[in-house]
Amino acid sequence: MLNQLSATCENKNCNRDLCEQDCMLVYQTEAGERRAYECRCGTVTVTVHRQK
Ligand SMILES: [Zn+2]
Repeated sequence: MLNQLSATCENKNCNRDLCEQDCMLVYQTEAGERRAYECRCGTVTVTVHRQK
């Protein structure tokens, strides 16, 4: 559904939309691409993008 890679801060008190500039780390695993975002509040959120 989503064309854009998007993520939201895991901190429920923050819930900020994370953007490309917050992405600190990208790496590949067997499950797909993982991205670690560091929010301004200091919370790190990791997302997984499955690949076909
Ligand atoms: Zn945050």
